[in-house]
Amino acid sequence: MDRSPGEISGRAVVLAVFGCPIDHSRSPVMHNAAIRALGLDAVYVPFRVEPGRLPEAIAGMRALGMGGVNLTIPLKEMAVALVDRLSPEAQRIGAVNTLWWDNDMLAGHSTDGEGFLRSLQEFQGGLPRRALVLGAGGSARAVCFALADHGVKITIANRTLEKGQKIAVEIARIVQGSHPSAISTEPDDLRDAVRHSDLIVNCTSVGMGSKADSSPLPPDCIDGHHVVYDLIYNPSQTRLLVEAREKGARVLNGVDMLVHQGALSFELWTGIAPPLDVMKNAVQGTL
Ligand code: NAP
Repeated sequence: MDRSPGEISGRAVVLAVFGCPIDHSRSPVMHNAAIRALGLDAVYVPFRVEPGRLPEAIAGMRALGMGGVNLTIPLKEMAVALVDRLSPEAQRIGAVNTLWWDNDMLAGHSTDGEGFLRSLQEFQGGLPRRALVLGAGGSARAVCFALADHGVKITIANRTLEKGQKIAVEIARIVQGSHPSAISTEPDDLRDAVRHSDLIVNCTSVGMGSKADSSPLPPDCIDGHHVVYDLIYNPSQTRLLVEAREKGARVLNGVDMLVHQGALSFELWTGIAPPLDVMKNAVQGTL
């Protein structure tokens, strides 16, 4: 059957994102822009899935023969126990952001770490020697493992110190030759760690929503030699990024990571590398 551009046929591949809440997700806009640009017979839709109903939602995905699913807050960790097989990456960070069919097996993978790395390499043409990672939640785990894998020396600063220490211990055990450390978020500890870092990555939610007026760092410790990467993309310029830019640092928000992690998922589902510029323009058009 001939299809006109953008038309969905009876054979269309259905892709989706599950999350709760889901209404602020940029993934549908981003993936549907790529689908349109490539002329694929596919559609990407958002579903609000309550955490307690994730097993039913994944059973539904299987029953409906959906082509692939992204998972977002707060479902990424829960999904680990609900797939047929886990990629080594998903296993070690304990989170799944992509469900895809590996032959007949429902596989769980995380593209967050690789998406982060690609965006950073694209931005600065290489990787730093030392990084300070702020936060110890799901995204921090992905970022820390990705950096440690590539020989970057990392320090993790988290409000709940034990969570940062736990990641540092796991990385030291799994990534040979890495010597990660964990510190508190006391201003003096942060200042000292910033002084010894080339890259600072904010993996906390400080800077968005009700915390939009806050920064996770004292403003006086950043200088012109730093690259400051905030995973938050809405607002596109967090207080951290505004203050860092005023100090002469090079700054990057979370849009590029969103695009790269999405592109990696898209490629798993379709076997096609999607157009990154189309995806990025689609996201930026919503911000
Ligand atoms: P998460 O697992 O909930 O972790 C949140 C982190 O923020 C924890 O380390 C938490 O510290 C810290 N935190 C929260 N409120 C704080 C406060 N008032 N003061 C100090 N620390 C605070 O979240 P996540 O999934 O890692 O996501 C973190 C951020 O990254 C979010 O803004 C998310 O939108 C963004 N993100 C972006 C992308 C992208 O593609 N650009 C991908 C993933 C995530 P405690 O451990 O002490 O609670």
